[in-house]
Amino acid sequence: MGLNDTVSAERVHIGFFGKRNAGKSSVVNAVTGQELAVVSDVKGTTTDPVKKAMELLPIGPVVIIDTPGIDDEGTLGELRVKKTKQILAKTDVAILVVDGEKGLDKPDKELIRLFEERKLPYLIVYNKSDLLKDTPCDDEKSIYVSAIKKSNIEELKDRIGTLSKTVENKKQIVADLIEDGDIVVLVTPIDESAPKGRLILPQQQTIRDILDANCAVVCCQDTELVSTLNVLKEKPKLVITDSQAFGRVSKDTPDDIMLTSFSILFARYKGDLAALISGAAQLGKLKDGDKVLISEGCTHHRQCNDIGTVKMPGWIKNYSKSEPEFHFTSGGDFPEDISEYALIVHCGACMLNEKEMQRRIEVAKNAGVPIVNYGIAIAQMHSILRRSLEPFPEILKILDE
Ligand code: SF4
Repeated sequence: MGLNDTVSAERVHIGFFGKRNAGKSSVVNAVTGQELAVVSDVKGTTTDPVKKAMELLPIGPVVIIDTPGIDDEGTLGELRVKKTKQILAKTDVAILVVDGEKGLDKPDKELIRLFEERKLPYLIVYNKSDLLKDTPCDDEKSIYVSAIKKSNIEELKDRIGTLSKTVENKKQIVADLIEDGDIVVLVTPIDESAPKGRLILPQQQTIRDILDANCAVVCCQDTELVSTLNVLKEKPKLVITDSQAFGRVSKDTPDDIMLTSFSILFARYKGDLAALISGAAQLGKLKDGDKVLISEGCTHHRQCNDIGTVKMPGWIKNYSKSEPEFHFTSGGDFPEDISEYALIVHCGACMLNEKEMQRRIEVAKNAGVPIVNYGIAIAQMHSILRRSLEPFPEILKILDE
């Protein structure tokens, strides 16, 4: 992946919803100018949504989610509501396509209720305006289009663009911690888990964020940190390290240089740093037989290798001096009911968007189950969490509570 590509997790996710007869697929195709795979034309089935990353003018990089059409009669049904909620967890902007001749029906209203429940920005698209004698005026929440006649489609794209702008990620990874001209040192050990010939995504994104802030980046491995710091004429403002090298890097970084890890930065960027820091305290309280869920955001393990399945359970047993029972999930698989767990240890979630990671943290919070991520857990278990939180004094307070 080139640095200029916008990764999927960072794109605005636009979900299209609607009943089968409303012409949802035609609206999706008219907006995207592409034939997206048609999903579930069979009544009563709930297939998976189709996702496609694309550049959509004038909106920019987006992910279009085409959801299976909903049955025309009755209500959504329990299974459909569950599936819809899962899709909505990843959706930033919801588009409800309605048959303009028929108007809003029971399932449409249920969908609107689900959008509002999640506080999602949404737009109701009344399709088939060509079949109407008089087309009503568009208003703040709705627009009339004809996907077949391609009428009002450009206006629809503008409206989607306006909604997307309200949710674009305004957060910064590190740029708010540094000032013009600062030097930042990134420590990126190249071990067997490092992909061949490139840096991993969080490292690429961090470099880009530092460059955007008009600062300089120096990259080295942990083995070269001391010599790198020695040749720099000016002290770096910040050292950012891979969590696994934190012990050595902490020793080699003078106390007057701020130090943190990619995991801490991304926990703040994507999730809820305060909640994850609170969760770290649970590691020392685990007892024999406690259930611990180790959850990874993707299934390919390209970057995480055996951390989740081998190293993390070993470190936790060692640190807690107990024999917890470990359960594992990966990819989109995250249990709705987690009440049986004493702790959830989540990966860095580089392949998950902010919404999905926030949702998982929310599920944990609601169930009263502590949640921590790999980097923060590693920092806690190696007694270096306090140092890695130096750039965030307000979060440091949580450790003292
Ligand atoms: S999503 Fe999680 S498991 Fe997958 S590469 Fe990123 S940090 Fe590792």
